[in-house]
Amino acid sequence: MKHTLSVIVRADIGEDEIRIAVEGCVTDQSQNALHSVLRRARELDPESPVILDLRATQHCEPSAIALLQMTVDEIDPYHRTTHILAPDPLPHCAVPVGADIGSDY
Ligand SMILES: [Zn+2]
Repeated sequence: MKHTLSVIVRADIGEDEIRIAVEGCVTDQSQNALHSVLRRARELDPESPVILDLRATQHCEPSAIALLQMTVDEIDPYHRTTHILAPDPLPHCAVPVGADIGSDY
């Protein structure tokens, strides 16, 4: 089993907000996929708020969130329209990162 990520982008007509709902595992590797999603959502409507909603994820690595925050800083330097909603505390799924449980080599 490995860490998987699924993304749903909702841009409702009449609601001026673009919401990127993320489920699964946000790791250093998987967060890369969210950069282009964020950029595209930003380009859909430069005036609309873009919310990257990570609250339904099963697994969030702090370093991955930091990398996402850097992308947000890049596309919205004054944090006027683009925001990350992170779960608190950050969840961690049962799939071990890197090694099997119990082995340490
Ligand atoms: Zn995971």
